[in-house]
Amino acid sequence: MSLKKKMLSEKTRQMLLTEIFHEHMPMIEDLPPVRTIHQDLEKFDPTKIVRVYMEEADLPLETAEYYTNRILFELRDLHLKGKLKYITTRMMRELMCVIAIKEGDFSTRDKLTVVGMPVNDVERQFFGYDFDNSNQIPCEEFIHKTKGDVIDEQYSLLKLYNFDTPFGNPAYSHLNKDIYIHDRDYPARPFCYQHSARFIFRNGLRIDGTGQYANVSRAPKRLDVAIRHICEFLGAASRNWNGGQSFRNLFWELGPFIRDEMKRSQDTKEIWGIPVPVGVIQAAQMLRFEPNHIFVGRGSQAAFSSISNFAHPPKYLTEDADVVLPGGKVVKGDYSEYREEVLLFWLAYLHESTKGDANGGMFHWMKDDVAIKPRWFKDPELKEYVFDPLMRYITKFGGPYIHNVKHVGDDEVACTSCCSLILETDSPDDFELAKQGVLGMGALQCGSFNLPRLAYMANGDDQRVFELIRERLDLIKEAMLAKYHFMGKVLNAGVSPFLTQPLLRGIDERPYFDLDSQSVLLSFCGLNEFVAAHMGQEIHESKEAHNYGMRMLMYIMDYSKELTEQTGINFAIWRQPGETMPGKFAQDDWHKFRSQAVVQGDPTSGSAYYSNFTHCNVNAGIDVFKKIKNEAPFHGLTRSNLLHIWLGEQDPNPDSIWSLTKKIIDKSLASYFAFTKEITVCNKCHSTHSGVVAQCGCGAGPSELVVQSRITGYYSTVGTVEAILKWRSGKHKTGQKDAHWQPSKFAEFNERVSNAWGERFTKIDPEPEIEHSTKRKEELEEVLV
Ligand SMILES: [Zn+2]
Repeated sequence: MSLKKKMLSEKTRQMLLTEIFHEHMPMIEDLPPVRTIHQDLEKFDPTKIVRVYMEEADLPLETAEYYTNRILFELRDLHLKGKLKYITTRMMRELMCVIAIKEGDFSTRDKLTVVGMPVNDVERQFFGYDFDNSNQIPCEEFIHKTKGDVIDEQYSLLKLYNFDTPFGNPAYSHLNKDIYIHDRDYPARPFCYQHSARFIFRNGLRIDGTGQYANVSRAPKRLDVAIRHICEFLGAASRNWNGGQSFRNLFWELGPFIRDEMKRSQDTKEIWGIPVPVGVIQAAQMLRFEPNHIFVGRGSQAAFSSISNFAHPPKYLTEDADVVLPGGKVVKGDYSEYREEVLLFWLAYLHESTKGDANGGMFHWMKDDVAIKPRWFKDPELKEYVFDPLMRYITKFGGPYIHNVKHVGDDEVACTSCCSLILETDSPDDFELAKQGVLGMGALQCGSFNLPRLAYMANGDDQRVFELIRERLDLIKEAMLAKYHFMGKVLNAGVSPFLTQPLLRGIDERPYFDLDSQSVLLSFCGLNEFVAAHMGQEIHESKEAHNYGMRMLMYIMDYSKELTEQTGINFAIWRQPGETMPGKFAQDDWHKFRSQAVVQGDPTSGSAYYSNFTHCNVNAGIDVFKKIKNEAPFHGLTRSNLLHIWLGEQDPNPDSIWSLTKKIIDKSLASYFAFTKEITVCNKCHSTHSGVVAQCGCGAGPSELVVQSRITGYYSTVGTVEAILKWRSGKHKTGQKDAHWQPSKFAEFNERVSNAWGERFTKIDPEPEIEHSTKRKEELEEVLV
């Protein structure tokens, strides 16, 4: 580039003006002046066009001068004299793109084009919301974000991911629905991250990462301040990452603060028969509300976040751990010594969670996940303070993910982040950082591929399927590497001081966010539809179909390990929870492959979708045990998976839920599972009802009642009861438009709630038998070979 820039020296410029553009000079003299982006008026100079073609589009001098000559002919034909007061640089750029297009030089057009949106769309956005992501609330900041998203997404597809590789062009393949590059609206941010609260308790809070732009807080001394700092940190993290943010074992790290609070707070209040200090209850309330109220980042999104807590702390917190006391003092110790205090906090927190907000509504953030081992079932205190309250919470709201850590050693260090993602590390250095409370782990970026399409393309040819899988994963690898290098430039530019703040001020100046230790995530959707298209049966329909699905996942995982070895970056397979991609892939496949395509939903109304990751078809009509039997073995291959158990519209008994929970943990390979129930919220009186109800006691009808549920990931708004009723009566095809309308998501919800799972669950046997194997991956491999 620098060599080419030098080529257009003053001498060259004069040469162009006198020899090449000479005959245009009289016309140029007559042109209106050019208004620059800095609002200055300048005399028209064709050599500036030559320079832009060379510098921004990498064209050689000869091509640049040829294009510029063509522009001059266009300008001559326009006879602009007297018609315009000035020409804008924007108009000149549009003309430069037109010439490139006329020459068939689309690459130059892509490099010179101006990204953005039509004026008309900008105006329309001021008066309407475009809800693609139901985690955002309607407000001016959200409208502003949707416009910013357009520019960054266009940049991602025009430049960052627009390059040719032996396996295709990532941007083109994304647009062609072969692969899916997630979070294109945030090219300069990493994806998800797991933080340790001790990072804040040790360093104090620098919300900007430096203390240069905002006030600095010392290490917190009181429980309520510690919680405020955690929530404010969460807000800052949401401005610097684009995916979920989580805290692991936060309750244990709060132990010394809870003990301190209990010394100050003499008044108690009874929770489920147990006296709890009022200050502890107040702090639990703050932690429950705050993440739902800090609509600070990403166009006003609540903190997209989770807390994962082990019922008993793992080794990195108990053996010679850095225990951070109020005020930031560090002593070597064991967090399990704070068990009494932590269990009281847990009880208070779960009580608040079950109570809900002032309207009785459920809390969405932080999403809770609780890690349980079979040997903890019989611990009477855990039962009283954690498991029983947890079951009450689940019965009321569905609520948390349960993390089965039966096979997880006590010395495990891992990232157990928002979306049932599990990243493990066996590095002694990481274990040391975890002990100090400054280990951050996460994923840089995520890419998925359209698995069912490969079955249509391979037409029954097994070998072709494997080839295509490799090609897709190789292509995603190239996209991920592009992001990795881009992110490296961003960090070097110093524009992300929050990410690059030191691990431990004055002690360990390495950056908090270490690019080289980030994982990248690979996923797909529709294993079920892939198997159905390739073998003629869905995964729940035969042992052969199920085994074929297992073998396919194993192959994908093995190939991801090869990519890890090739690149030195950890490529992890996980369940992508996004709800948009399965709809886009399925709808596009139905258009392209028609009768060959195996899709769920109704493609004629635009609501086709593929099943999430390795999940069974929600419309399979199988009971909860058959579902577990089918889905849990996939967790034996990759633990980053989630088993949904739909409670339907009923209020089940907490004891039944606990009984099933113990069975799943003890007898199945499910690593994460969650109970989901439908909840209807009344927009008029703000009360909450179990199930989908068409009438509220206050008199509100279907148009004022809104249903919340979990489709593939988090609880969110599905739509109004009116829209659901219309859908069920088949009237949805006539241009149905609802505030939260997303056809594929809607179809999946409707098909699921109308099948038998919910109903059968209420008739559950208190001691259900789950007969399938608890074999781990190695053993499964032997079975399948
Ligand atoms: Zn009401």
